Amino acid sequence: MENFIVSARKYRPATFDTVVGQKAITNTLINAIKNHHLAQAYLFTGPRGVGKTTSARIFAKTINCLNINLEKNPDQIEPCNVCESCLSFSQNASFNIMELDAASNNSVDDIRRLVDQVRIPPQVGKYKVYIIDEVHMLSQAAFNAFLKTLEEPPSYVKFILATTEKHKIIPTILSRCQVFDFKRISVLDIANYLKYVASKEKVEADEEALHLIAQKADGAMRDALSIFDQLVSFTSGRVTYQNVVENLHVLDYDYFFRITDQFLSGDITSVLVIYNEIIERGFDGQHFLIGLGEHLRNLLISRDTATIDLLETSVSIKQKYFENATRFSSAFLLKALDLNNQCDINYKSSNNKRLLIEIALMQMVALGSGIVEPVVPENIPAMPVKKKAFKEIASEPVPTPTPAAAPVVKPMEEVKQNPPIEVKAEASVSVVAEEKIDEKIEPVKMPRISKPVGLGISLKTEEKIKEEEVNSDAYMLGNEHIADVFTQEKLDTVLLKFIESIQSQPSLYATLKSNKAIMQDDFIVELQVYNEAQRSALTDKKFDLVKLLRQELNNYKINVAIKVIEAQESAKLFSPADKFNAMAQKNPNLNKLKENLSLELDF
Ligand SMILES: [Zn+2]
Repeated sequence: MENFIVSARKYRPATFDTVVGQKAITNTLINAIKNHHLAQAYLFTGPRGVGKTTSARIFAKTINCLNINLEKNPDQIEPCNVCESCLSFSQNASFNIMELDAASNNSVDDIRRLVDQVRIPPQVGKYKVYIIDEVHMLSQAAFNAFLKTLEEPPSYVKFILATTEKHKIIPTILSRCQVFDFKRISVLDIANYLKYVASKEKVEADEEALHLIAQKADGAMRDALSIFDQLVSFTSGRVTYQNVVENLHVLDYDYFFRITDQFLSGDITSVLVIYNEIIERGFDGQHFLIGLGEHLRNLLISRDTATIDLLETSVSIKQKYFENATRFSSAFLLKALDLNNQCDINYKSSNNKRLLIEIALMQMVALGSGIVEPVVPENIPAMPVKKKAFKEIASEPVPTPTPAAAPVVKPMEEVKQNPPIEVKAEASVSVVAEEKIDEKIEPVKMPRISKPVGLGISLKTEEKIKEEEVNSDAYMLGNEHIADVFTQEKLDTVLLKFIESIQSQPSLYATLKSNKAIMQDDFIVELQVYNEAQRSALTDKKFDLVKLLRQELNNYKINVAIKVIEAQESAKLFSPADKFNAMAQKNPNLNKLKENLSLELDF
């Protein structure tokens, strides 16, 4: 460590071959050199730290290399690194390359000095290359002074302009340049390069740790390398996942896996305890929401091998997502994402941010606990294919999932062939284990049990599907954020309109007419019915009802929750017997009449 050179400099690529994540661009440049189609001026645009200046330098070095002889050896387009020109480049002593940082040298005088040098032809090599970094920072006068030279440069001059802000470049300059858009470098590319650097530096580094660094760098290799350097010195050369989590202050995947596990088991308490743990470790709520949103999105895209590659994580974490994803229905994940998103939007304006998040979490538990999606028969044949496809991309041994994590869903045959090993002394234990596996592979769709979670909302799948319907219709477009406040009175008036429209369903009609709607938080209107049949009938009408409420009350956040309640005294009046009893209570003579005349009521 005595002559410590930062990795970003030490491992700066010296050939096109080693530029990370910009293959399309380096190939085009190589072909241009090969075919003698060099433009007078190039504009390299893209985010910081993705290789613009590096590529410009390699380009300058390559076109000046004395050992590249395209007639003799048309495929050798990489600089030789041994000729006079290459050596002077490597020692930063070449007169053929001029770099100007327009961020700090943006005056007319700076540009004039540069333009004056343009007139002197190169002594060694063929081309003089001018790299102007952050070219959008040039003053208007400097731009104008530069424009003339850019229009008619001597044949031995090449300009490479680089900028992070392409939109600030005036059209007259844009039109004179060949433009290359550099992409953010993918997490995987960065992680792989860090792995290479770590091996060169003889640093022990976990794959997951490197992925985390790559994610944090957000597409910029330079940032990734400087984070890596810092961590190497903090951790004295042992870059583990845990070290990175602590030093970079990132929220561990593990937290989110634990939380979504609890969504399924319906354990509100555990979710709140885990959330508290996160807060106590110093993470703020919004940070958590972003992480949870990403986690839910990752689960959603892990349901299919076609999209699982969008997951920018290490192979072992990908595997974990893959195994977990099938436990959640996409309906649940979509709804949870929506709740998360709403919470994120309202976060800034909320007076009790913590409660806001806790409510969202409780709603997710309410949703999740009702819908543990059993493995449906038609999904089973697809599973082994998915697994196989995943195994192919997996290059490292799969870690055994923690007890809290998802049980691996095995195709039936596989379980049959490898029955759980029975240990005689622990017979009862193995029976339990066997039962559990049976449950997992149960080919019959399990009945959905909605657990009471004490929130007054017991959403069922049928209703959830309507949920997606009501939020996705065209009338919602552009209105999503309108949420006028309304009174119970106004609500009742609009509801009455709806109720009057369903007179053809007398039972539901009467029930809704007698039970007052209850306004809950978040504009949820709770309607009470007496049985599953009524719930189902009302669920069918939910789309129209929600639309009516939203439009009439000018509040597009309104939603309807349907709750099945015990029938009240007044409700029992719908059967003739109930009516008779109620009347008899008011007028006891009725009972006498019935007895004296030995009347039988025809119920
Ligand atoms: Zn050379």
